[in-house]
Amino acid sequence: MPELYFKKCKCTYCLKETETKRVLSRHIRVERTDFDGFVHYQGSNPYLYEPIQCSHCRFVFHESFEKLRTDVRQTLEEQILPTLPVLPFAATERTIEQALQLYKLALYTAQVTGQKEAILAMLGVRIAWMYRMLGDEVQELQWMERSVTKYEALYLNYTDAVRTGIPHDVLLLRISDLYAVLKRTDDAKQWYGLIFQSKTVSDRTKKEAREHWELYRETHNV
Ligand SMILES: [Zn+2]
Repeated sequence: MPELYFKKCKCTYCLKETETKRVLSRHIRVERTDFDGFVHYQGSNPYLYEPIQCSHCRFVFHESFEKLRTDVRQTLEEQILPTLPVLPFAATERTIEQALQLYKLALYTAQVTGQKEAILAMLGVRIAWMYRMLGDEVQELQWMERSVTKYEALYLNYTDAVRTGIPHDVLLLRISDLYAVLKRTDDAKQWYGLIFQSKTVSDRTKKEAREHWELYRETHNV
């Protein structure tokens, strides 16, 4: 596929350079964006190429992963890496089903390596989006539900953007949008309401939240 190229990236576990397929930026064509941030692409889909499998050690990761602790590295080496499958499509063109398998493995390695909750939640949303592309609404909503629970816990224990791993405004809008996707009107109303009433949320986020809430009300007869 001429739209794809090999990108070099450093494996979070073995620190060696590995290659993964990516979509050339000049070939990325956005069709439209759903209000929860999901982008519909024409042609090759960049979402399918985010998870990476290292060709040296099999570790599956996402570029958002942070440095691994020493004790985690040991567990990985002894218990996890030998059990990971070597996926031939990790460096080739991918179908949605194959990307989904890689995302689930990335979520698993994120859990066992103690990545931030914000990263686990983000991967959960990506998995939900894979199911959206496959037209499997039941699975999509299940994964959205899990992710919104994680994001809500993050909000309750929020410290700052660096430690929590997500800016405050983005987190609030994400939770509101996910409740809207889940069609949980009362929850969506409450969370969008928090944004509208906040004294610290930026005007830009407030404007976006208003647009999303209006769209939700129009399409759901609220
Ligand atoms: Zn590696």
